[in-house]
Amino acid sequence: MSLADLVIRGLVADYNVACGACGTRFRRSGLRVVRREEDVWQISARCPSCNLMSLLVLKVDASGLVSEIELSADEQEKFIAAAAIGADDVLALSEFLAGFDGDFRALFGASATTADAERRPE
Ligand SMILES: [Zn+2]
Repeated sequence: MSLADLVIRGLVADYNVACGACGTRFRRSGLRVVRREEDVWQISARCPSCNLMSLLVLKVDASGLVSEIELSADEQEKFIAAAAIGADDVLALSEFLAGFDGDFRALFGASATTADAERRPE
């Protein structure tokens, strides 16, 4: 674990980020850095009370202040009710990626066309 990982875990614990299901504050020991891209951190957090795993997406500014990139109320409801990802899901994704040619336009076809149309100025 790097020094930066230790610091970000301390910042998250000090920032009082809480479980979306039961409201219990996450503890430093339940936090793991999953990924970092510049000043945006993805951190897995295990609730010390209900044991729910959450993925936190946090932005840390130069002064060390943390802001949580929050999900909308609809997104929170959707993900709290969703089944946890299991080994079968990981295997299915692995099999899909083994045969995927990288053509996202074809994969997302209709929805990408709709999004493109909405972005175009009239
Ligand atoms: Zn909880």
